[in-house]
Amino acid sequence: MSAKKDLSFSTRAIHSGYDARDSQGSLTPPLYLTSTFSFDNVEQGAARFAGEESGHFYSRISNPTQELLETRLADLEEGEAALATASGMGAISATLWTLLSPGDRILADITLYGCTFAFFRHALERFGIEIEFVDCTDLKAVSAALTRNTRVVYFETPVNPNMRLTDIRAISDLVHGYDPEIKVMVDSTYCTPALQKPLTLGADLVVHSATKYLGGHGDLIAGAVIGKADLIQRIRLEGLKDMTGAVISPFTAFLVMRGLKTLELRMQRHSISAQWLAEKLQDHQAVEVVYFPGLASNPYHDLCKQQMSLPGGMIAFELKGGYAQSVRFMNSLQLIKRAVSLGDAETLCQHPASMTHSTYTPEERAAHGISESLIRLSVGLEDAGDILADIEQALKQAME
Ligand code: PLP
Repeated sequence: MSAKKDLSFSTRAIHSGYDARDSQGSLTPPLYLTSTFSFDNVEQGAARFAGEESGHFYSRISNPTQELLETRLADLEEGEAALATASGMGAISATLWTLLSPGDRILADITLYGCTFAFFRHALERFGIEIEFVDCTDLKAVSAALTRNTRVVYFETPVNPNMRLTDIRAISDLVHGYDPEIKVMVDSTYCTPALQKPLTLGADLVVHSATKYLGGHGDLIAGAVIGKADLIQRIRLEGLKDMTGAVISPFTAFLVMRGLKTLELRMQRHSISAQWLAEKLQDHQAVEVVYFPGLASNPYHDLCKQQMSLPGGMIAFELKGGYAQSVRFMNSLQLIKRAVSLGDAETLCQHPASMTHSTYTPEERAAHGISESLIRLSVGLEDAGDILADIEQALKQAME
C-alpha cells in the first residue's frame, strides 16, 4: 500500500510512495546504484530524452531511489513535486539559476545563512542580477522594494542564525497581490515539514538543507526544493542537469529516507528539550538575551504559534560581557560539540561570526543583524538534563 493523503504525517513519512509488492516484498526500498538505464531500442531512448515517455535515462537527471525520496518530500510538504539535490546550496543555486536572468531582481531578507548570502552577493550579482536586502519582517519595507523586474522574494524562517521569524502568509499575499508571477521562496531548513509547511501558507517554493533535520544523523550532505510540478521540472532540466550538476547520490537519498522515518518524533524531542533549555538560559544570571520563538517574551512568539506547530530545536543567545565570554563558554563545553551544521542527534554549538557567517564582512554582519558575540546552539537528542549540566558548567567557567 502506498500512503494516501488522509494518512497522518508520521505515517506518510514512513510509507509514502512505496509499495513493497513492487519490489519483491522488500520492506526497505531498494537502493538503485546505477549511473545509467538501458533502452529497449533507439526509439525508446529518443522518446525518453524528448520527455515524450516517462522513465529514467541517466542518474544526473533522475534515479528511482531519488524519485522515491522526492515523492515523499513533496507529500510531506504538501507540494506537487520535489527535486532532491546534492546539498542545500545545490537546491538554492539550481533553483535561482533557473529562475533568474541578467537584469532581474531578487529581494532577500537582511539575514541569511552565510553561504546563501555569499551566493547572492558574490555570484548572482556578478552575473548581472540585482540583489536588494530588505527586512522581511517589515511588510512596508518589502512592499516598497517590489519592482517590475523583481522575480523572487527569498527568506529563511526562522532565520539562521538570529531566529527572526517572517510571516509566510502575509509576505506571500503581499507579493502575489503585487505580481502573481513573483516566486516566494522560503528556506524552511530549521523547521522541516514536521513543524511548518510554507506551501500551504502561500509560498511558491520551499528549499531545505536536508543535511540537517531531514537526514537527522549528521552523516550526509543533501538538499531539496519543493513546489509546482512544472517549475520543479524546469529546475531539474535547467538548474540541475545543465547548470549545477548538483545531483544527489542514490545512497544519500536512501539515507535521507531513513532519517525521514523518525522526523516527527525527533522534531518533537528537539523542540521540547530546546524549550526547556531556553527557559533555563533565560533565567541564568550570565545570559544577556535568548532568541527562541517558544519563549513568551520573544517578539515572534505569536507568529511562531500561528505558522509553526512547535518552536524547533535551535536557540541563539548572548552572554553578559560579550565576545570574550562567548569564546570562553564555547571552549569550556565538554559534552556539547563545537561544530557547524545543525539538526543532528548530538548537540552542536558554534559561533556564527567566525564560522557559518564569516562570509559576511564585519560591517555587513553589523548591517545585517548578526552580532559578533552571538552563540548558536542546535539542541540534540541527548538527555536535556545532561545538556543543561554542560551548559551550566561552561557558563560558570566563562564568567570566572
Ligand atoms: N540553508 C540553511 C538555513 C542552512 O543552515 C544551510 C547550511 O547550514 C544551508 C541552507 C546550506 O545547506 P548545505 O550545507 O546542505 O549545502
